Amino acid sequence: MSKLKGPNTHQKNSHQKNTQQKHTQHKALFLDRDGVINVDHGYVGHYDNFDYVEGIFDVVRMYALAKYKIVIVTNQSGIARGRYTEADFHVLMNRVKQDFADKGVPEVAVYFCPHHVEGSVPEYVINCACRKPKPGMLLQASQELGIALNDSVLIGDSWRDIEAAHAAGLKKSIYFSENAIPAGATIEGVRKVEALQQLTAIE
Ligand SMILES: [Mg+2]
Ligand SMILES: [Zn+2]
Repeated sequence: MSKLKGPNTHQKNSHQKNTQQKHTQHKALFLDRDGVINVDHGYVGHYDNFDYVEGIFDVVRMYALAKYKIVIVTNQSGIARGRYTEADFHVLMNRVKQDFADKGVPEVAVYFCPHHVEGSVPEYVINCACRKPKPGMLLQASQELGIALNDSVLIGDSWRDIEAAHAAGLKKSIYFSENAIPAGATIEGVRKVEALQQLTAIE
């Protein structure tokens, strides 16, 4: 799995070396990207096709002000499928991080899965441990950023996001979808919303 290196990398490294802070367990707001942060037009690889979802900045700022780490966890099989490159993804996400900074959220971590078993770019054609519904990206973020998973929350528009959150040990997740919770689903602690403006307080 991959971690987008950003301007905060050095800061995080210094933080990790600080032994007094070493065992600090932070809460996190995990966010799926496509369909939560931006409108899911399908294989969004460039900023000109990146349309923000109504209300996203208010929700993220609310959690950031409450000292939650903001962590994007996103499946990007478009990279494995050759729809756009990993470099394109980094360029796009640096723009997105700048937009969040401009909206008062200067620290956003990004984890992404570029893999898919049916991809066309050989180096990414693997059955990885990071593609949601697997929890790999959340587990890696937890280790690297000192996140207490059982105290964290995820917002996702796909049920596989909710499954990944559950598999990682989260107790709360928000299913942002017009679809019903799947019949027979047994995951507890799921709140369903159809608009981000419904999220007016920390879950
Ligand atoms: Mg999505
Ligand atoms: Zn992967």
